[in-house]
This record gives sequence, C-alpha cells and structure tokens, in this order.
Amino acid sequence: MDSAKSWFHKFQQSDRLRTLRTVSRKKDSMGSAREEPPADLLADDEASTLTKQKVAAAKQYIENHYKEQMRNLQERRQRRNVLEKKLADADVSEEDQNNLLKFLEKKETEYMRLQRHKMGADDFELLTMIGKGAFGEVRVCREKTAGCVYAMKKLKKSEMLRRGQVEHVKAERNLLAEVDSNCIVKLYCSFQDDEYLYLIMEYLPGGDVMTLLMRKDTLTEDEARFYVAETVLAIESIHKHHYVHRDIKPDNLLLDRHGHLRLSDFGLCKPLDCSTLKEDFAVGDGVNGNSKCEDSSAPKRTQQEQLQHWQKNRRMLLAMLCASFLQNIRNDAYSTVGTPDYIAPEVLLKKGYGMECDWWSLGAIMFEMLVGYPPFYSDDPMSTCRKIVNWKSHLKFPEEATLTFEAKDLISKLLCSVNQRLGSNGADEIKVHPWFNGIEWDNIYNIEAAFIPEVKDELDTQNFEKFEEAEHHTSTSSKSSPWRKNMLSSKDINFVGYTYKNFEIVNDYQVPGMGISLSLWLCVVHALCT
Ligand code: ADP
Ligand code: MG
Repeated sequence: MDSAKSWFHKFQQSDRLRTLRTVSRKKDSMGSAREEPPADLLADDEASTLTKQKVAAAKQYIENHYKEQMRNLQERRQRRNVLEKKLADADVSEEDQNNLLKFLEKKETEYMRLQRHKMGADDFELLTMIGKGAFGEVRVCREKTAGCVYAMKKLKKSEMLRRGQVEHVKAERNLLAEVDSNCIVKLYCSFQDDEYLYLIMEYLPGGDVMTLLMRKDTLTEDEARFYVAETVLAIESIHKHHYVHRDIKPDNLLLDRHGHLRLSDFGLCKPLDCSTLKEDFAVGDGVNGNSKCEDSSAPKRTQQEQLQHWQKNRRMLLAMLCASFLQNIRNDAYSTVGTPDYIAPEVLLKKGYGMECDWWSLGAIMFEMLVGYPPFYSDDPMSTCRKIVNWKSHLKFPEEATLTFEAKDLISKLLCSVNQRLGSNGADEIKVHPWFNGIEWDNIYNIEAAFIPEVKDELDTQNFEKFEEAEHHTSTSSKSSPWRKNMLSSKDINFVGYTYKNFEIVNDYQVPGMGISLSLWLCVVHALCT
C-alpha cells in the first residue's frame, strides 16, 4: 500500500512538472515574457480534466492492485496456518508434514501463475455445439493445457451493444458475487476478444429440463416433485441475494451428470414490453371471461391434442433449424427473450415486480411437467401474453389430467396475483406446502435423481439437441418456440436488452481453476442492465 502511495506521489509530481514545462515552452515559442507565474497556480490552471481523470484512474488502479495483492498474501498465509495446525493435531511425521506443506506451496504457486495468465479463446479446443443462444452459442470445449472439459458460451458483443443501457454495475456485482450455491451453474472464467465475450462454465452433460420434457411428455408427480423442489432451492439461493432471475424456464434448468438440477442463464433477457397493449389487456382483465383479449379464435383442444400441438411445434422448430431456416431471419429483436409462457403477468405489464415473479414461473413449469404443456400455451405468443395477463379466466386444469388436489392447490397458489402468491414471504412458504410432504430439503442434492442421465464420457452430448454447424451464426435461439418467428415483424413489442459498456469488469473475475459461481456472470450481465 505504501509503495502504491509513493508511486502515486511521484506520478503526481512528474505530471505537474510536465504541465509546467509545456506551458513554459508554449510561452517561449510565442516570444512572451520569460517571467513565469508561481508554479502552483500554473499547474492548477493548466492541468486538464483529462489528466486529472487519468491520475484518478491510475490511483484507483494501483490502490486496488495492492489491496488485492495484500488480500491474496493474507489468504495464502491463512491457508498455510490452517494446514500447519491441522497437521500438528493429526499426529503426522515431520517428514510428511514438510511434504504436505511443500505440496501446498507448489499448488499456491501454480494458482498464482494461472491467475497471471490471461485466458483467451485460443486456450480452448472447441467441440460440439450444445446450444444456440440469443447472443451466440454454447459449446463443449477442452482446455488445452490441463485437458479439462467445460462449456463455453460465446456472446456477440455487437448484439449486446445494440440493446439497452448499463447501470448499477459495482453494487450489483459485489452483491451477487456472494452467491455460490450448488444449485447454480459454476462459472470458471471469462474473457473477451474484439467480437465476443466468453464464459467458461462447468459442463453439465445431463441436458436441460426442456429436453427432458420433450422426451418424457409428462412426469409423474413424484418425478416432478424432485425437479420442482430443486428449482425451489435454486430460486431461493438467488433470492437470498436479492436477485430476481425473471427468466426461469425449462431450458434454463440444466442437469448434471447425476441428474441434479442447476439454474443457469441469468439476466440476459428483459421482459416483453406490453405497455402499448396495456389498454387492450386492461379491458380484458375480466374474471367473468368476457375479455376481448380472450383467444376466442383459438380452437378448443383436448389435453392430448394440446400436448401434441405443443410437442409438434417444439419439434417443428428443430426441423426448421436443421434446414437452416432460422439462419435467414435477420430481425432478431424478439430473440433476446425466450418464450413468454413462463413470464409472470406483472412482468409483462411492467407493473413493477419483485422476486415473486420467479415463483410464478415455477408454477408454470410445474403445470407443464404434470400436464404436458404450459398453462397459457397458445398458437401465437401475443395470445399467450393475453392469457397470462388474464390468467383468472384462462388458468384451467384439463379434465383428462389427473393431478392430485395438493398439486392443483400448489400450482394455483403460484399462478395467482402477487399479493396472494406463495413464496412472497420467502421460499419456506412453498417448502411447507403439503405437496412437498416427504421432501428432505437439506438432503435432496444427496439423494438419487428422478432420472439419471445416460452419460458415456465427459464429452458426451447425447442429452442435447443436435445443432448444425453454420458458417454464419445468427443470433436466433434454438430454444424458442416457433411463435418467435411470428413475433419478428411485430411492431407492438419492444424488447430492450443489455449493453456491455465495460467488458473489463468480466476480466476482474478471471480465476482459472477456481470454481466461481455463475453468479459472477449473473452480476456482470445483470448489473449491466438498466
Ligand atoms: P440463452 O441465453 O440463449 O438461453 P443459455 O445459457 O440458456 O443461452 O444456453 C443455451 C442452451 O445451451 C441451454 O438451454 C443448454 O441446453 C445449453 N447450455 C448452456 N450452458 C450449459 C452448460 N454449462 N452445460 C451444459 N449445457 C449448457
Ligand atoms: Mg437460456
């Protein structure tokens, strides 16, 4: 710290001297009086705002750098002390003690070397594509030196820059960096080049819940209970840090190799702006069912027909992808957001919303797991939005679906108005609901999952959809419903996304080899949103 201060002092002095010299040189060349004004006055007057800013930035940088170094040293010393104490208590021979301490030092040195090494895309071998997102793609990759396998999410900067504003960066980052939970995908490191931002995450080979649902159609209540319970824990873990996901949906629920669930994909999407349609919605907000927004033209289908329709549409999307059909869709204004099927009404209406909106999404997912399609599914997204906003007249359990009373009760207490919604006063309200009777909340991550995914080896991608490699990747997401296509030309909707103003923030957290919660990414992305 001291050396930082003295460096800064020298920096200030030399800057001041330089300013004085410049001024005096200017005066000489103009042949003006040789007599110079008092140095202090001259420096104060002439130092440009830019110089001041540079000085402040340098000061901040150096202070942070030394603070960080001090902290690292302290932590390193602490780790050694802990090990020494443990070894002393453990009755280990002196020779073994020395060997273990040497091993620790070796690891520490390796870790420091890794920290100094700036990771880049070249450090990874890119393998199978497992996801195509709104801003880029996700691939399995292998780190070239250590050979470890990760998932690399590549986000196109220009796409992000096109959308939105950036605010509240640091406060959010500090807050969310604390989230480090089993239920959240881990982020290992992140870096950038001119075109892309890269996120290196743990690779979860079990696929996502959307793929699971496509394979199973519906789940039994016992199976659903497992996934819903783990989703409750995941949502709870981010809410504890006052973070709202807002985009909880089956394709953002990933499964590890044992079939346990982790939440992913934080904050890239902003909700649908329905402000232009508010009146339309307001008129139709009728419990009596006389809404002019009611989907009167929509054919009435049985549960089986609706299920087939939903499944067919999902599959149709895949077919379209295979035909590279979506590659031609240029207007991707809507693609920054996923399906509206799981979005809470207050989010759609931009009424102002809180954490409760994630519990609504949970209700919609639970409905889909047990019924086969989401509760407000419709042929086109706008009517889905209308149905959501008018949920009172649209939430119906199909007669053919044999849900227990407890399941219907829980869903109805999640898909309801904010002030009545379970979870508004914390996740415990949900956890004690009778549908969860028998769930051991503290032990669920240790029990056997409802389905154990087949995973042959660390590079196995059989639990993911197949994606065609294309020369020019578009930013359309594979995980959208086909209705997205219909939305592309709509002028009614206006999605505001996110802008990355300062990519350096991401590099602050470049800690290869150390599992950092995806919350770091979450905080980067979310903190940068308006
Ligand atoms: P988007 O913002 O486009 O929704 P996501 O982060 O959700 O991007 O990634 C898209 C898909 O890629 C996910 O639905 C999932 O199938 C796959 N995916 C993303 N991250 C991982 C990961 N860490 N491990 C395995 N699959 C992943
Ligand atoms: Mg996603």
